[in-house]
Amino acid sequence: MEALIKNIKADGKLLAAILDCSSESLFKSLINKAAIIKEKYCGNVVYLRGLIEYSNICRKNCYYCGIRRDNKTIVRYTVKEDEIINTAKIAYEKKYGSIVIQSGERNDKEFIKTIDRIIRKIKQVSNGKLGITLSVGEQSYDVYKMWYESGAHRFLLRIESSDEDLYKKIHPNDEVHSFINRLKALENLKKADYQTGTGVMIGLPFQTSEHLAKDLLFMKDFDIDMCGMGPYLEHHKTPLWEYRHLLKPQKERLNLTLKMVALLRILMKDINIAATTAMQTIEPEGRIKAIQAGANVLMPNITPAQYRDNYFLYENKPKTFEAPEDHLPHLGKKLKTVNHTIYYGTWGDSKHFFRKNGQ
Ligand code: SF4
Repeated sequence: MEALIKNIKADGKLLAAILDCSSESLFKSLINKAAIIKEKYCGNVVYLRGLIEYSNICRKNCYYCGIRRDNKTIVRYTVKEDEIINTAKIAYEKKYGSIVIQSGERNDKEFIKTIDRIIRKIKQVSNGKLGITLSVGEQSYDVYKMWYESGAHRFLLRIESSDEDLYKKIHPNDEVHSFINRLKALENLKKADYQTGTGVMIGLPFQTSEHLAKDLLFMKDFDIDMCGMGPYLEHHKTPLWEYRHLLKPQKERLNLTLKMVALLRILMKDINIAATTAMQTIEPEGRIKAIQAGANVLMPNITPAQYRDNYFLYENKPKTFEAPEDHLPHLGKKLKTVNHTIYYGTWGDSKHFFRKNGQ
């Protein structure tokens, strides 16, 4: 087993074997190796992104998602423009360095213009100093480029699964949910000069270790700059709910996610990897464990409190206002216990992006 860990490379069979292996000592060796690589290439620092869940209105109907278009049981919201600007300003003052604007997917003119205006205003109120990551779905190249020129510089678009057959099992099979279009959108983000991130769900029904190994190889081949991946968490108002009997226990999904984080860190040494909220949903220490396994980004939720309860992607998502675990001093203390510090007031860009572009 130790030999497996020593020689990790971009080999689907090897990666699947590691993901499949239930040995505790292999798990520990894997996490240790990823931790050493992260310290060498990224340092033991954690970058912050204040997460603003801008709107839960979505034109899509993904089978796993609690805010899918056909879920009529939730209250739909969009954060008011002045509230989002004010939230971003507070994030800047608190030295978050960077924010993420996340939203359900819309591609109508009003949405596109509003996002553009918000980006420009945030740049204004922060003297150009607050970094902006977008996670607002598939758009045309021109829209991506326009937002980039307005001041957004990183974009996260999760592929969710890089296996086309599995992708089709978890999405409606139509033009709006096309796998090919998603790949094209990822290409367009790169072309538009964004630091480009993607990610997958781990522990989906019908998903095998081979699928996950393929996901790792996809991220390496695509040469991503950042990754946000997390365990699949079921939601009772979604079509995938009926397959919940096929799921691994949540704890196993968390451990599998930690292995994916560690393997990705070993394969892609200097990218940014987020410790996602879904991990913390399974276990309070989930995000800290992800940091120990190779992640280097945390995204505390700073969405104005009155909206937060309605961004209900999956069951048991933390949703109280300023959850104690998201208070920065508290997070800082937690991180200190695992030999990490928060790097305040920086954009925390992907080193990989600059290295591959020869900067
Ligand atoms: S996963 Fe994204 S695109 Fe799909 S329904 Fe949910 S918010 Fe919309």
